[in-house]
Amino acid sequence: MDLIGWFGAVAELEGGLVEEGDGDRLSVLFPDHLQRRLQVGEMESFGMEERDSDVGRLLHDQNPVIAGMGAILAEKGRFATAKLPGKPPLLRTPEAFLERHLTAQNFIYRYRDQQIEPVRYLIVPFLLGAVSDMKTERIVTIILNETTRTVPLGMENDLMAALPQALSSSATSAAADPAPSADAGATETLSLMKEMVRRQAMQLFPEFLRSAERRMLRDLERLQEYYGAIAREIETGAKKRLGGDGEREKAAGRLEAARLEYEKKIQDVRDKYAVEIQAEPLGALRLRTAAVMFHIQMQRRKQVLQIKLPINPLNGRLEALPCASCHTPVLNGCLCDGMHFLCTACHPNCPVCRGQRRGNSV
Ligand SMILES: [Zn+2]
Ligand SMILES: [Zn+2]
Repeated sequence: MDLIGWFGAVAELEGGLVEEGDGDRLSVLFPDHLQRRLQVGEMESFGMEERDSDVGRLLHDQNPVIAGMGAILAEKGRFATAKLPGKPPLLRTPEAFLERHLTAQNFIYRYRDQQIEPVRYLIVPFLLGAVSDMKTERIVTIILNETTRTVPLGMENDLMAALPQALSSSATSAAADPAPSADAGATETLSLMKEMVRRQAMQLFPEFLRSAERRMLRDLERLQEYYGAIAREIETGAKKRLGGDGEREKAAGRLEAARLEYEKKIQDVRDKYAVEIQAEPLGALRLRTAAVMFHIQMQRRKQVLQIKLPINPLNGRLEALPCASCHTPVLNGCLCDGMHFLCTACHPNCPVCRGQRRGNSV
C-alpha cells in the first residue's frame, strides 16, 4: 500500500472522514482529538510531493507559502530565485512613520534619509520537529531580508499574493543566483534562520512540551516511590535482625547499591523525555525586489551605530531587527554598552557581551 493510502486508512480507523481527490490526493476531515494530536486543521489535503522526490514526505498542501512555492520549486529545483519588479514610492512623512513604529528604550535615534535600494529575501519553509519519546512535526516558514538582516513581519500572505507575478517575471532570471549554501555569508544566514525557527518551537509545541514534562515528572515520582520503599525495607530488615557489624555493613552496602541504581534510573528518565528540536529546510526561494530604505543613526551615550531599516515592499510595514541574543524580531528594543541591539527580555544583562567576556577569560 502506498504511503498516502496507508495514512488515509489510519485516519479513517481513528474516526477521520477520508475522501479521495484529484491524482493521489486525499482530503481528510479530522475529529477533534486528531486535530490536537496531529496539530492539523479540521480539513486538510495531503499528497506526496512527487515533483520533489528529494523531499518525498507528506506535506501540508494548505500551508499557503508551501503551496505557492511548490510551483516555483518544482520548476527550478529546491532552490529558486524570483524577481518582483516595481518601485515602491518614498514616504512623505518618514520621521512620523518611524516614530510610530520604532521604539528606543534606552537610546535615541535619528532619521537621516530614505532611498530606494535593491533588497533580497530568503524564504525558507522548515520542517520543524520536536522529538522525545514521541514526535510532532509542522512546517514553519521563515523569511529574512538578506540585505539588511531584518525580519519582515506578517509578510506571508502578501507574499502569496505577489508570487504569481514574481513567477511569471522570473522565468528569464531563474537560476542566476548561486544556491544559498554556495553563497558567501549564506551559511550564516541559514543558520540564523534555523535558530529563529528553533526558538519558535517553544511557542509552537506547547502541548507537546508540557506533556513530555508531565510524563517525565510522573515517571520520576514513581521511581522515587519505588526506591524509597526499597530503602525502607532494607532499613527495617536490618533493625529486625539486630545483627552485629557485619549485618549493618551488608545493609549499608545494599542501600548504597540501591541509591546508585536510583540515580542511574533518574538519568534514564531524563534522557527519555529530553526534547530535541529538529529544523530541516525543505527548499529555499530568493526574492529580489526594491524597497524604501531608511537610514537611521542610533546613539547610546557617546557611541553611534548606523543602521538601515527597510519598509517591506509587499505590506508597507517597517521590518524588525532581530535581537542580537535570542533573535526575536522586535521594533522595540535596547542597546547594551557593547551596542548590541536587544529585545527587552534580553536586556540589561546582555548575553552576547557575557559570552564574549567568558570567551576572552578562558
Ligand atoms: Zn532577546
Ligand atoms: Zn552586548
